[in-house]
Order: sequence, then structure tokens, then C-alpha cells
Amino acid sequence: QKEEWAKLKNEKTFTSDGQHVELVANIGTPDDVKGVIANGGEGVGLYRTEFLYMGRDQLPTEEEQFEAYKTVLESMEDKPVVVRTLDIGGDKELPYLNLPKEMNPFLGFRAIRLCLEEQDIFRTQLRALLRASTYGNLKIMFPMIATLAEFREAKAILLEEKEKLVSSGVSVSDTIEIGIMVEIPSTAVLADQFAKEVDFFSIGTNDLIQYTMAADRMNERVSYLYQPYNPSILRLITLVIDAAHKEGKWAGMCGEMAGDPIAVPILLGLGLDEFSMSATSILPARSQIKRLSKKEAASFKEKILAMSTTEEVVEFVKANLMN
Ligand code: PEP
Ligand code: MG
Repeated sequence: QKEEWAKLKNEKTFTSDGQHVELVANIGTPDDVKGVIANGGEGVGLYRTEFLYMGRDQLPTEEEQFEAYKTVLESMEDKPVVVRTLDIGGDKELPYLNLPKEMNPFLGFRAIRLCLEEQDIFRTQLRALLRASTYGNLKIMFPMIATLAEFREAKAILLEEKEKLVSSGVSVSDTIEIGIMVEIPSTAVLADQFAKEVDFFSIGTNDLIQYTMAADRMNERVSYLYQPYNPSILRLITLVIDAAHKEGKWAGMCGEMAGDPIAVPILLGLGLDEFSMSATSILPARSQIKRLSKKEAASFKEKILAMSTTEEVVEFVKANLMN
């Protein structure tokens, strides 16, 4: 098995019927890029930039951020790198921002909500990203988008910073895709509208599941409700993928579910274009996908979406889509 994986390292990911899907990695620091390359990742599907801001006592400067983004983009050469703007809040705190304690941090002032309010923090990060954009294939992604207004505002701020940089003579890439994480049910439900305005979606199932099932992703006592294969989750994922394709956009997934061997055949059948996972899951997933027919997986789509429980889905996948 190890030998098979080693051989797959330099290959792209194709199904048994010749369909390509992109297998990319989640990273937290520029150092993680080594692991992505060592495991044959076709790019970075989620760079969690909040780690740049954590474990210190003040905000990272624009220069520090520029260096980090440039390093990642350069080391990935021309492969796609999806950088997520600051997703702080929930379980990830920044003590030096002195934010008031909240009753429900996961439902509170976090991620894009904070960035749209504390615009200095947001604009600094965007400038660093825009300046780094000429060093590789950068895509920018906003986290925790709940409404179109949030996306439009975030995008407008990004374009404003770009204008400013360009008019002061700084070169900025003209091909940066701008997308969103779909991790709040409202956005999944309204994906057809979002798809007209974004360049791509990346489904964040870690949060999408928690918000859909109303079950804290960290709380053991309600973990029985944390059900990736619940048909309600699969239907939301389908809304997102279909909406993207209808507008000629791509849909990826960067939650843990994307690298889960039971989920992979389902997601392949639903038409997911990009799977972003921990680097060490890439070669096993590539080997699994190589043995799967996309056409066959897709032929089960309606049947799976019509199921009523998690158990039914898992049993079906094990019997029909795993060998
Ligand atoms: C997610 O919510 O699925 C996700 C990828 O983001 P994070 O785990 O960083 O919240
Ligand atoms: Mg999330």
C-alpha cells in the first residue's frame, strides 16, 4: 500500500472513468507546505491564516503577513493556494484584542463579522495578500459568510485596497479568484444567488454540520448529532455544488469530511470538484478515488439524497461504493 501511495505522489487525481478531481491540502503555517508537497497535494485548499495571529501578544504586521503568504505561494509554484482571511472567534481567541466575553462565541462576533467591523485588521491582511499575489496562484476566501451583503462588502473592501495599491505602483495579480466558505446554512440554502457573484465555494463542513444540527462541534455529549452523512447535510452540500456548476463556478470542500473515506464516494457522486484535507490523507484518498467510477457514484445521487437517516447512507455506501 505504501508503495502504491508513493507512486501516486506525482500523479494527478483521476477516477477509474478518467474524471479529474483536485486533491489539495489544509495548512495552518508556511511550514506545513513541505508536508503538502511530500504528499503530492495539487495545491492548498485552505490556508488557515488565524495561526499567524495566535500565540503572540499583538497583531502581525503587514510585512510579516506578506512574507508568510509569499513563502506559501512561491513554494507551491503555480499550484492553486486558497487563503482564508482571518477566522478568529469561536474556539480561537485573540486575547490582545480585548473582546468582550460572549455567551455563545460560535454564534457571535467572529471571522468576517469582526473583519468588517475592525477594518484596519482586515485591510492590513488584504494588502499583504494582494502584494503577495504576484508570487503564485492566489485565491482569496472569506470565512463565515451568512449574507450576500457581507460578501459584497468584503469584496468591495478588497477591490478598494487593490485599487489603492495599483495606483501607488504596486503590482497585483489580475487573476485572483474571490470565493467564500459555505459553513452557515443560510448561505448553503441561498447558494444559487451567491453563485452569481462568487468565483468559487468551499464547503466548511466542520461548522456547517454544527450549525445545521445545532450541535456544538466540541461538545462530547451532543456528538451523536454531529452527522456528516445525515441526508440533511448531503442535501445542503448538493445545493451548493449544483448552484456553483449552474453558474460555471467550482465547488470544493475543506472540512474534515472531504478526506473521510465514507464521504469521498458520496461527494464524488455529488460532483464535488476539489477536496481539501490534511496532507497525510491525500495519497490514501487518491488511491481510493482511482478505484471509483464517477459515473457510477453519480448514478446513486438521487437514491442517497432520498434516504432518511445517517445509518441508511453509511450502510449503502459500504455495500455499493467501497471495495
Ligand atoms: C470548517 O468549518 O469546516 C472549516 C474548514 O473551518 P474551521 O475548521 O477552521 O472552522
Ligand atoms: Mg469553519
